[in-house]
Amino acid sequence: MQSDFKDQSNNITMSDQADLPSEFGTFTIVGFLEHGTGKEHSAIMKGRIEGEENVPCRIHSECHTGDVLGSLRCDCRKQLELALRYIEEQGKGVLVYLRQEGRGIGLINKINAYRLQQDGLDTVEANVELGLPPEARNYAFAASVLKLLKVKSISLISNNPAKFEGLKKEGIVITSRIPVAIESNAFNREYLNTKQSRLHHQFNDSKEVLGERHS
Ligand SMILES: [Zn+2]
Repeated sequence: MQSDFKDQSNNITMSDQADLPSEFGTFTIVGFLEHGTGKEHSAIMKGRIEGEENVPCRIHSECHTGDVLGSLRCDCRKQLELALRYIEEQGKGVLVYLRQEGRGIGLINKINAYRLQQDGLDTVEANVELGLPPEARNYAFAASVLKLLKVKSISLISNNPAKFEGLKKEGIVITSRIPVAIESNAFNREYLNTKQSRLHHQFNDSKEVLGERHS
């Protein structure tokens, strides 16, 4: 059975699928080994997505400090939770969890950047100071995953125009975008403002908004 799931042309090996009951809903999980980097990614799915149009989809980049440790320096964990709860509500969707920590710069660099931010730089300036690109994420792998799962088109849960464009460039059909609104706190207000002003993340160009700021 496992051999059916291999896509050697893309250098990806797909695992078997297994049930994943979680506090956010009842999902199915499948793993993907990216041969080039040795990284193990996953997709969390609900309902039938193969051959389907407008599948609610979140491409989530790993954030160890936020997702696992509950850090308030960013809104990653909140976005992850909202997306999973939304997929559960819709009864259909997929969340691709990419192991690209800190917008692709890695955990050590991210912590070093946090230190610089503590000393007054914003998230973009801190990365530049460390000689790193502000946005090192790559969406080719996420696109390969969606193709392997045979999703026809997606409704993208995201505020990030780079993600939208990146996926489109990789041949993914995006029929709509669902923004995620997260209430800021004392620790992440600056970060959320920077995302909006420096990285051009959008919050208000769509009717449907997922999240906390929505009334
Ligand atoms: Zn984060």
